[in-house]
Amino acid sequence: MSKSVTIVGAGLVGSLLSIYLARRGYKVNVYERRPDMRKVKMSAGKSINLALSDRGWRGLEGVGITDEIKKIAIPMYGRLIHHKDNTTAFQPYGKDNQAIYSVSRAEINMKLMDLAEQKAGVKIHFDKRCTAINKSTNEVSFEDNLSHAHETASSDLIFGADGAFAASRLNMQLHNDRFEYNQHYIDCGYKELIIPPGKNGEFMLDKNALHIWPRGSFMMIALPNTDGNFTCTLFLPFEARPDEPFGQGEKSFKNLQTKEAVQKFFEEEFPDAVPLMPTLIEDFTNNPVSSLVTVKCFPWTFDNKIALIGDAAHAIVPFYGQGMNCGFEDCVVMEELIEKHKENWDKIMPEYQSLRKPDADAIADLAVANFIEMRDKTADPKFLLQKKIEARFSQKYPDKWIPLYSMVTYSPQIRYSTAMKEGAKQQAIMDKVMDLPGINEKWDSEEVEKIMLSMLS
Ligand SMILES: Cc1cc2nc3c(=O)[nH]c(=O)nc-3n(C[C@H](O)[C@H](O)[C@H](O)COP(=O)(O)OP(=O)(O)OC[C@H]3O[C@@H](n4cnc5c(N)ncnc54)[C@H](O)[C@@H]3O)c2cc1C
Repeated sequence: MSKSVTIVGAGLVGSLLSIYLARRGYKVNVYERRPDMRKVKMSAGKSINLALSDRGWRGLEGVGITDEIKKIAIPMYGRLIHHKDNTTAFQPYGKDNQAIYSVSRAEINMKLMDLAEQKAGVKIHFDKRCTAINKSTNEVSFEDNLSHAHETASSDLIFGADGAFAASRLNMQLHNDRFEYNQHYIDCGYKELIIPPGKNGEFMLDKNALHIWPRGSFMMIALPNTDGNFTCTLFLPFEARPDEPFGQGEKSFKNLQTKEAVQKFFEEEFPDAVPLMPTLIEDFTNNPVSSLVTVKCFPWTFDNKIALIGDAAHAIVPFYGQGMNCGFEDCVVMEELIEKHKENWDKIMPEYQSLRKPDADAIADLAVANFIEMRDKTADPKFLLQKKIEARFSQKYPDKWIPLYSMVTYSPQIRYSTAMKEGAKQQAIMDKVMDLPGINEKWDSEEVEKIMLSMLS
């Protein structure tokens, strides 16, 4: 008889995992707290679009759905930096037209749910909020949002895919001795805004770039949507920080309380964006400020029959564009282990958590570090020179140097934890190179190349 599976959460990772498991013959039931988003309109100001990159594509490819998702994805070949003086500079993400892809979180989620139900035979139950998991009986309890009735689902395996504030994780934390848990909020929040299409539906910025307005202690980014809109996200400290080194310490959500203050702030900081944002004040007033959290926990599996996956196991801040990609990679690893251990879950579960935990920790730390790179360094000439030196060297010696961004984004064969270690070694080398006298003039010289080669060996 085929094994039964309960998945808590029909978000990105729960929906993809359900397809993987159903294709293997498991009887999969998914329980989702929200109503069916394909039938109910989402609340304003939560339209997030995500950068999908190679690790995520690999997850989708494993169940043969890349073509379906490509239809709703827009390639972005690099960062387009918007300076305060209205000039722009393009920084390619990789070589040979490598791209990351902008997808609407809601659209990809709906597509995955369609594919799970229609192609894989998964049953998704909506408006069911998980309230408890009973390890000894293998039962998950739910409350129906509408009737408030309580019900339970019993199955051989249970996956908690209910996101950063997972009820499944909280349950494991409460009922397991020595459960490690760490949660960290950064002091910046984010608010979503919009750049609508032009009169004829045209994109008002280059649609094949990720737009960044880096301003030291804060930044705005914009990613394209298939309907001609750009979703802009303003990342800004919640509170003023008088000790801020960039002289920008007074800039905070708390200090943007009036329409006049918002208008002035945008005109000063993002002058080229303001004319493209006709509903700026309305959006700023109506849309919420949300917080950004990193969650690390362990263990991820319990009695070899319950596992946490995706953000429920490892929520990270969005600055490497890897949260969903990492969650999709969890599914790939799970699939590989199911194959390797011939569905012996006593072997799959321990190996899943021991393989994935170091990688999730690594990308969590890299993501926090990348916030500083995006908001501050992308406009720093020294940083840009370093990137030029790296790009040149890696093009000449691709087997000796893959830039950290490329390892994380375009190299799913390299584990996040390996990428982080390699990246630290590279940074140590680059620190020395950048200290060489006259580096601005001789950055592309044979001398610099030789020094880098000798440091590498
Ligand atoms: C501003 C922002 C930008 C981001 N940008 C990127 C990016 O560019 N690239 C990238 O890869 N990632 C990005 N991410 C991260 C990405 O959104 C998450 O990593 C991803 O959504 C995780 O998927 P998940 O399925 O684990 O969790 P979620 O997508 O959060 O899904 C969890 C699901 O569980 C449901 N649920 C919650 N509680 C319960 C309950 N008690 N019972 C039943 N169901 C429940 C929820 O309703 C939801 O449907 C970004 C995140 C943010 C906040």
